[in-house]
Amino acid sequence: MQELILYNTLTHKKEKFRPRKGKKVGYYACGPTVYQYAHIGNLRTYIFEDLLKRTLEFFGYNVTHIMNITDVGHLTSDEDTGEDKVEKEAERQKKSAQEIARFYEDEFKKDLKKLNILFPDTFPRATEHIQEQIDLIQKLEEKGFTYKIPDGIYFATKKFKAYGALWKTRPQKFQKSGRIQTKEKRNEQDFALWKFSPKDSKRQMEWSSPWGMGFPGWHIECSAMSMKYLGETFDIHAGGIDHIPVHHTNEIAQSEAATGKQFAHYWMHGNFLQADGKRMGKSEGNLLTIEELQKKGFSPLDYRYFVLGTHYRSPLLFSFEALEAARSARARINQHIQKLHQLPKKNDNRGFRNAFGHTLADDIDTPGALAVFWKHFETLSLADFIWADTILGLRLKSIKKPNPPREIKKLLREREEYRKKTDWQKADAIRKEIEQKKWLIDDTPRGPILFSGAGLP
Ligand SMILES: [Zn+2]
Repeated sequence: MQELILYNTLTHKKEKFRPRKGKKVGYYACGPTVYQYAHIGNLRTYIFEDLLKRTLEFFGYNVTHIMNITDVGHLTSDEDTGEDKVEKEAERQKKSAQEIARFYEDEFKKDLKKLNILFPDTFPRATEHIQEQIDLIQKLEEKGFTYKIPDGIYFATKKFKAYGALWKTRPQKFQKSGRIQTKEKRNEQDFALWKFSPKDSKRQMEWSSPWGMGFPGWHIECSAMSMKYLGETFDIHAGGIDHIPVHHTNEIAQSEAATGKQFAHYWMHGNFLQADGKRMGKSEGNLLTIEELQKKGFSPLDYRYFVLGTHYRSPLLFSFEALEAARSARARINQHIQKLHQLPKKNDNRGFRNAFGHTLADDIDTPGALAVFWKHFETLSLADFIWADTILGLRLKSIKKPNPPREIKKLLREREEYRKKTDWQKADAIRKEIEQKKWLIDDTPRGPILFSGAGLP
């Protein structure tokens, strides 16, 4: 078995993966803020996180996977100002914050299922871990890392010497000279641990705390919940690259300041999806959801296949042409597997399996692994396909031996009669008739076999 190599954002290089405890891996991935439908750019990150988990399991690791659900505290501005995204949407839709949060959480989980993303072991919600967050803030307070301003309790980043370890260069947002958004914040990168409820209006979600009524800042939930479920130090923390400058940087600062220990050993980040040359995002106005792709006749798994074709650390350029190519590739795989179900069993292809694993071991090189797959395609056994699918996640196991309707079988027999009589014209006409009914014929040395040419689910 090859050694798994992963790119670690913390060290800015590829490293041999060494978990802390034998084959056990603690893995935390930042989950969604549940106030809107996930778009396919968000979902690219979750497919990457799924590929990471599948790769770990492929190499024999026993993964505990935690993904949080942010249902409070994520504000419309990263500067700890603005409105709570969930409460704002609740107001707009005239619903309770909890109704909004649960609705979009369910929708998110439906998208994960459609994309055949393996569910984490736990989806802890921020609102159900308020005490853990308060405890962590108190620990930071005792150690002198916090200060209070009229707006809330803040983390003093100057006191944490290693602040910004994930940065290769200082993020642009902190390069502007002395711009401090929140009044009375001591330093620009200081961030809210606990925000006080506004005096002039009533929040739907607020809790009492040693500092007064309020709600947790966005970053603290991930530290509190990851440490609760995985311990003070764990193996892998993942998310989108947009989390590097602020969210993950702050998670490291508050966790390590509180425990005095390293928080996560490996930090892994998936790159953006781009459409029309821009990152896909709400403010860019180019959002697409899985449901919209389905309305256009694509399967969510076409999108998954499309994502597999680009390395997770590279930007992925979305186009409908590329999605169509993914759909054709899946149709070819589907038809081929239907054929394999009807042909004598092939031997497993060792060379393929070695090459596939070898490619994958190099920082989850899925485009490389797909190239290996297509190179060996015609020689693969049914078992090889199912084996590779533990990574690809295209539900190849669900492609069964086809069961053509009686009328199609009858047409096939008629075609055979004409072929015996060497009446090629009539035989061909029947073939066309069969094809119009979305069934395809392959004339093998053992006789013709039928398979469905209908679209995949
Ligand atoms: Zn997080």
